[in-house]
Amino acid sequence: MKALAERTEGLKQSSIRAITQLLEGVDGINLGQGICDMPTPDAIKSGAHRAIDEDRSIYSHYGGIMPLQEALKKKANEYNQIPITSIDEIMVTVGATGAFVATMFTLLNPGDEVIVFEPYYSYHCDLLKAMGTKLKFVRTAAPDWAIDFDAVDRLVTDRTKAIIITTPGNPSGKVWSRQDLETLVALMQKHDLYAITDEIYEYMLYDGNKHVSLASIPGAFERTITLSGFSKTYNMTGWRIGYAVGPEPIIAKMGLLADLIYICAPTPLQYGVAEAFGMSDDYFKEMGEAYDRKRTLMCETLEEIGFIVPWPEGSYYVLADFSPLRERFEGFEDDLSASHTLVEKARVGTVTGRSFFEDDINGASVLRFCFAKEYPILEEACRRLKEAFPAT
Ligand code: GLN
Repeated sequence: MKALAERTEGLKQSSIRAITQLLEGVDGINLGQGICDMPTPDAIKSGAHRAIDEDRSIYSHYGGIMPLQEALKKKANEYNQIPITSIDEIMVTVGATGAFVATMFTLLNPGDEVIVFEPYYSYHCDLLKAMGTKLKFVRTAAPDWAIDFDAVDRLVTDRTKAIIITTPGNPSGKVWSRQDLETLVALMQKHDLYAITDEIYEYMLYDGNKHVSLASIPGAFERTITLSGFSKTYNMTGWRIGYAVGPEPIIAKMGLLADLIYICAPTPLQYGVAEAFGMSDDYFKEMGEAYDRKRTLMCETLEEIGFIVPWPEGSYYVLADFSPLRERFEGFEDDLSASHTLVEKARVGTVTGRSFFEDDINGASVLRFCFAKEYPILEEACRRLKEAFPAT
């Protein structure tokens, strides 16, 4: 038989998912994959029920149903301060991942170079590699994950086309400041670069940090595609409804490509998520307070056990360094053994540090913990961790 396409050669199951499967056999608590298994708001669920009952079952326009596009336009203007004036600058997608794929296909040719910050969200990089894109990495480090913009400047070549950012960051929890973003925009203008900005954790913020959208910075909008979605904010990762915001000529091409790939996001679910915009703003306040408590519980527990913990500024992950545990416990030689040790001794799942770096060695002493769980479940996970790895 002839070989499969070359792009399949390097593909393997992401370690974000692998741990979910490993845990199934041991009644484990999954602090690995960001599955967000709290309840979806009732308003959204009944909106989808209604749409199904009313047989709103046919394809939507590839850009989404109009009431949802209208609501997203308002949200992009008000929350994100992105200067769009038409629903043609919005596209509803199958998850933020669907939006990423459409963006990538629209902007990039095989051989184009893209700049990515480490630690990164591996799906971005693996998709780009499958596209034949060449990745160039800029490392950032705990505790503040500061960006070395000179390093970015030096990496740019004639082939460099785009830069990827994620704010708030997964897995770092870094919230890009206005100043960071302004410096980035200056570089984008200097080198004529596009940006793809994944802002799916835009409502999970701590310690007074504010979310600033890259596309709101003067000079950025015309070269920026902003990605977000409903999965994380409304606990509905399996519904797969996301969206992209950007200049009309780019969104138009993205829509045509998405139409070819999957035609549209599921129509009744689009009606469901449209109900999110009728909910009270208290929802965000309560969600913010709940995540704040969970972050404190998670980070304090890890610190008590002996991890070095860069408390995240946003998102719901913490990338914690376990190297101090090596002298007290067996099974912490590297991130892979540490993650297996946590499953075996505490029945708690995490994601290995190597999943977020190009060279495994750079993630060898860190694990990512996700605290998007119901509080009592997170408490139980923390109890198990403290019991298995008692502080001295
Ligand atoms: N974004 C989530 C994470 O980082 C889910 C990833 C996934 O399942 N692909 O864990």
